[in-house]
Amino acid sequence: MATKYIFVTGGVTSSLGKGIISASLAKLLQARGFRVTIQKFDPYINVDPGTLNPYEHGECYVTDDGAETDLDLGHYERFLNIPTSQANNVTTGKIYQEVITKEREGAYLGKTVQVIPHITDEIKRRIQLLGNTGNYELIITEIGGTVGDIESLPYIEAVRQLKWELGNSNCLVIHLTLIPYLKSAKELKTKPTQHSVKELLENGVQPDILVCRTEHHLNMELKRKIALFCNVTANAVIESIDAETIYDVPLLMLKENLDKTVLSKLKLRSGDEPDLDKWKEFLGKLKNPTSDVKIGLIGKYVELADAYKSIREAFIHAGTVNECHVEVISIHSEHIDSQNVHQMMCGLNGILVAPGFGPRGIEGKVTAIKYARENNMPFFGICLGMQCAVVEFARNVLGWEDANSTEMSADTNYPVIDMMEDQKKVAMKGGTMRLGAYECHIQKNTKTSQAYQLLNISERHRHRYEFNNQFLNAFEEAGFLPVGINPESNLVEIMELKKHPWFIGVQYHPELKSTVDNPHPLFIKFIQAALEDRRRKENSPAAALEEHLAIYQ
Ligand code: GLN
Repeated sequence: MATKYIFVTGGVTSSLGKGIISASLAKLLQARGFRVTIQKFDPYINVDPGTLNPYEHGECYVTDDGAETDLDLGHYERFLNIPTSQANNVTTGKIYQEVITKEREGAYLGKTVQVIPHITDEIKRRIQLLGNTGNYELIITEIGGTVGDIESLPYIEAVRQLKWELGNSNCLVIHLTLIPYLKSAKELKTKPTQHSVKELLENGVQPDILVCRTEHHLNMELKRKIALFCNVTANAVIESIDAETIYDVPLLMLKENLDKTVLSKLKLRSGDEPDLDKWKEFLGKLKNPTSDVKIGLIGKYVELADAYKSIREAFIHAGTVNECHVEVISIHSEHIDSQNVHQMMCGLNGILVAPGFGPRGIEGKVTAIKYARENNMPFFGICLGMQCAVVEFARNVLGWEDANSTEMSADTNYPVIDMMEDQKKVAMKGGTMRLGAYECHIQKNTKTSQAYQLLNISERHRHRYEFNNQFLNAFEEAGFLPVGINPESNLVEIMELKKHPWFIGVQYHPELKSTVDNPHPLFIKFIQAALEDRRRKENSPAAALEEHLAIYQ
């Protein structure tokens, strides 16, 4: 079967959740047995979002093959449980880079290089790259931005051309819009949707399906009105009502027959009902927790929930496994000091110290980690979070007062975290970190090996600095153990504190691999440790530390 293409565009306003709708549709199609993937085309000029501040664009999601991508790719992986790659996220920057490189090589000699056809041809080539691998029957392409934006135009034009070239049964456009509710008139309003569809029509694209975001149910009369004014069939007006959780959306779309409508328009047989048993089981547990814990998420971008998207989702997955509601309390690392740390931490059952770059907020992170270490509070450090735990231990246990990462202080006497050797000669900023999947060998009889139930793992990375092996012995002797090592480079990947209920720092990003079908083992165990912390605090303050020491033989 030739690959068929589904495009998802957005109208009226941004932030309508094209990523979640795309992921939900993909989930339904996957559950019907189709081989499907999702890709995102972003109209900005950055080559990738790796150089963007999290305040600008939320988290930067990293794939196995080392692409720094949009956070929507995280949703795709969490919903579909299949990895994405470099090819799944394309930006205008990438498109232009390719065309300009070809122009310099002489590929267009004699010709004027123009948006149409050269840029649109390159967009169409990229759209079909994954389709041409033969691995997928259906490809969903999310077009970033909002219809009407100047920078989206070449993408809409490429969609128009593809629809014309491939035909309506091979190419389908879903337009996501908003039906606002006017409180004073007590009415849902369809005009912005009509205008947004008109905008698409002006560019030559007739949407096949409208997915309408709304706070209130759309009745049949309203659906018919939208259908009539926007030239679609009434069954192609899909209600997308605000959901309690993003994980409800596939089932809401199933109820609205989005998948069936898509398949019938693409002239595909829908076959059996989708197999969503596992998904429903997950939702059942998510909505009926039997316990709860409070976890402090300590970072410097906490004002923006999207900055730590994958971490927050990994907590939802791990909480569900433990039938536990994880209340994530955002704590700004710049607000923590030795005076207020007890007050800030004492109500928590664990802390996660987040990834990050640069010195802002570092001392707050170190202070929080000291508190967790000294008070047997479960601690999970990710990337910079692990590096801060190493700095804290060096300063307060090994007694090296000015120990630091050279990222924060170039002239420290104890550079316990230092720039990786092969990073020292790197001048370019974009795409030059240690990125993507690397192997890690885990030491037997450790909390980490117990969590993974494996000794060889692969996890994703995004960093320039590393644990400085020159200091390894001192740490090991004092009981902060390098229990995970990259077999090729000897880089420390996991640090685990022996005399502590649960104190683990990882140089990689486990949150990026947590999915609904495959919650991450370290997050699961961290939540278990937080549950134990809660029980310990409630029952006997004399923590059973011996129990935790037993696993080290
Ligand atoms: N800034 C640190 C480094 O580059 C940590 C990066 C991160 O937390 N992702 O090594």
